[in-house]
Amino acid sequence: MDFTELADESAFRHRVRAWLAEHIPVAWRGRPGPYADPMSLDERRAWSKQLYAAGFVGLTWPTPYGGQGKPITFQNIVLEELARADAPQHVNASIGLAFAGPTILHWGSEEQKARLIPALLRGDEIWCQGFSEPEAGSDLANVRTAAVLDGDTWTVNGSKIWSSFAHLADRCILLARTEPDAPKHRGLSFLLADMHAPGVRVVPLTQITGQPEFNEMFFSDVAVPATSMLGERGDGWKVAMTVLRHERGTSAMGMAAALEKQVRTFARFVRDTGLGEDPRAQEGLRSAWISLQALRYTNYRLLSAVSRKAEPGPESAVAKLAWSEANQQLTRLALDLLGPYVAYASSQSDWSALWRCEALRARGNSIEGGTSEILKNVVAERVLGLPKGR
Ligand SMILES: Cc1cc2nc3c(=O)[nH]c(=O)nc-3n(C[C@H](O)[C@H](O)[C@H](O)COP(=O)(O)OP(=O)(O)OC[C@H]3O[C@@H](n4cnc5c(N)ncnc54)[C@H](O)[C@@H]3O)c2cc1C
Repeated sequence: MDFTELADESAFRHRVRAWLAEHIPVAWRGRPGPYADPMSLDERRAWSKQLYAAGFVGLTWPTPYGGQGKPITFQNIVLEELARADAPQHVNASIGLAFAGPTILHWGSEEQKARLIPALLRGDEIWCQGFSEPEAGSDLANVRTAAVLDGDTWTVNGSKIWSSFAHLADRCILLARTEPDAPKHRGLSFLLADMHAPGVRVVPLTQITGQPEFNEMFFSDVAVPATSMLGERGDGWKVAMTVLRHERGTSAMGMAAALEKQVRTFARFVRDTGLGEDPRAQEGLRSAWISLQALRYTNYRLLSAVSRKAEPGPESAVAKLAWSEANQQLTRLALDLLGPYVAYASSQSDWSALWRCEALRARGNSIEGGTSEILKNVVAERVLGLPKGR
């Protein structure tokens, strides 16, 4: 495989870099800490529109729905340059663009794609993911939230948990049980729910970092039009698998970009704090850089597979595993190097505050989007072809 960038890819990279140097909001550059967000939701939407107008969103998506139909390498370039410039993300970066949109493009009707995709790309509508429930995390097929059809409307009752960005969301990809008598994997359907519909209640949950990133969602007699089902009735599991492949797969490009940013921040931290001679810092940096390169080249393999099959396969679990382990190791090492005084960060802007937040947030990396244990099962059974353990 030839890893050299083509001339149009290099030109595009330079254009993205130059545009970001000029446009990143001043308030964002001066923010005090990693989880301080000086931009309001309206400003974030405006930034997303700017990114879209500049041609940096939906690069691989079909042109009739507002995309650009370019090869996936262009998408990778945008993710890398956003991370290197430490730029704010598009409002739909982690769910809408990473997996809700690609799943709608794969399974959606013409009407659904035309109605939902352009608004998602522009950041006019924010998406969240309603999969997990108290009794359905790793065992996702155990979903109990129920949808019952009456005429041309589904009525939804139940609850979801750990739903990232639900407190900001306009729409939700919702997995619900529509066939209570069918075997559990065949009894599910996939709905595109309106988060502003009567009967939807969102209760934010504060994470260990102090940020309310995810939520509980309660659905009480929520009406979802039958035209808002993705796939056919009973196809929910198949559609959900498309979501998970994108969540662990195409998102891996974003993970590599995020890890590169983390490694570069770690190198700056080591320099600024005079830890450059500490063998733990040297070894940690070397090892993180190697993990980053391994992740990047694994992703290239994934990119080739995606270009051929148009969808990431179970190999994507390897990339998600590698990223979560590397990020946890690096952030834990930063805490070790700072020592016990890390607990006494004097301000939101010092290194202790940054690494404390990063290390605490990294704990979730091996849970979100499928736990490491589940991903190891996927790799063992579906990549390596080993016999099932149960
Ligand atoms: C930061 C963050 C954001 C999230 N955002 C969302 C979101 O937006 N939408 C959403 O729907 N969900 C979201 N989740 C939920 C996430 O998908 C679930 O937490 C995850 O799937 C695990 O489910 P669980 O928490 O119920 O744990 P469980 O499934 O109960 O697992 C508990 C433990 O048992 C282990 N285990 C379970 N089954 C097996 C097995 N078969 N073999 C070996 N080990 C096993 C697990 O690895 C884990 O260690 C988020 C989670 C986090 C941490």
